[in-house]
Amino acid sequence: MAGGEKSGKRGINTQLAHSGNDPHAYFGWVNPPVVHGSTVLFPDAATMKATQVRDPDAAARSRIQPYTYATYGSPTTDALCEAVNALEGSAGTILVPSGLAAVTVPLLAFLTAGDHVLIVDTVYYPTRRFADTILSRMGVEVEYFAPDLGADIATLFRDETRVLFMEAPGSNTFEMQDVPAMTAAAKAVGIVTMIDNTWATPLFFKPLDHGVDISIHAATKYPGGHSDVLMGMVSANQESWATLYNTQVALGTCGAPDDAYLVLRGLRTMGIRLERHQTTARALARWLEEAAKEPDSIVGDVLYPPLESFPGHEIWKRDFSGAAGLFSFVIKDGTEAQAHAFLDALEIFGLGYSWGGYESLVTHVYLKDRTVPGRDYGGEVVRLQIGLEDEADLKADIERGLAAAKAAG
Ligand SMILES: *Cc1c(COP(=O)(O)O)cnc(C)c1O
Repeated sequence: MAGGEKSGKRGINTQLAHSGNDPHAYFGWVNPPVVHGSTVLFPDAATMKATQVRDPDAAARSRIQPYTYATYGSPTTDALCEAVNALEGSAGTILVPSGLAAVTVPLLAFLTAGDHVLIVDTVYYPTRRFADTILSRMGVEVEYFAPDLGADIATLFRDETRVLFMEAPGSNTFEMQDVPAMTAAAKAVGIVTMIDNTWATPLFFKPLDHGVDISIHAATKYPGGHSDVLMGMVSANQESWATLYNTQVALGTCGAPDDAYLVLRGLRTMGIRLERHQTTARALARWLEEAAKEPDSIVGDVLYPPLESFPGHEIWKRDFSGAAGLFSFVIKDGTEAQAHAFLDALEIFGLGYSWGGYESLVTHVYLKDRTVPGRDYGGEVVRLQIGLEDEADLKADIERGLAAAKAAG
């Protein structure tokens, strides 16, 4: 049914242009309709009864009448889910109202009182907040682990360990994790593995191909791509799909049709946008790394997996096929005042959270939430989201920021 898969494997941009798309189901219109609605009508009482959600055989139900009520999906949300399944190689995908919900719903699906969950210490902060508040209150024991543990993650496994939660690279400081090694260790003892794959997108890393059970995305970022939508997507392999789907149905955390439409539209150009984000980010990261070598430069380490100097570079090279346009650098031995001076001097980079849109953004990174002793970054960490603007303009903007930071030192 997906347009991109009629005759064999096609290139990624061809897949992005045509997956989740069945124009002739809608009179030939190129894009699926945005179906607004709660209610779906049935032709008769027998069909209504035969498609009741209490019936355990969902596939049989959907052959009788595919849609029954909007919380269970619509042609718009199905189009996006189908496209994402093709990209992830997943058995099923759910859409939720935000990237954060794409983290919380699968954790709620698989964890119960008395369980133990292992979460990487470099995790996206709101994931930690959810674990430390809601999961703890539910009676789940939360433990954070160092991102570089690799197969030694097994030393932290207990009989009660139910979920291993990864995010590679880590938020803000980009520590890589040996996902295949950790996943193999977890699989050997029946622990469910999840990864927040927002940075790489399924274009640069396909978690399910490496044995991970659940792949999580803030579609708010690159899939949406225009800073105008919030949405989360969770994709599961065959073994995990029923549990994930049943939890979504039980919670009612369904994604909205307008948002699904915007994300599907974003997917069409995600490949070419990511190419541009990556090219400019790599050039600017290298340029900063060179700048760091100059005497009295205030630039310290550049935290970006594609750089050979970055500690997780070899893992990134082995497992990932590309890099997002989000990285950080350190203001060496810097102060908060210097970091603020850098931010305040920028004219193109906006001071704002989130990333993955067309425009460049900057944040001063807060790291005090971390609980596992890790790397000393040697100064204040500043995160750059490299947008689609011209490289020379972004470079000039960063130079302005660095000059201001230096003057504030
Ligand atoms: C932004 C982000 C999220 C959350 O997405 P929202 O749509 O903003 O809730 C989750 N994980 C990572 C890694 C993110 O960067």
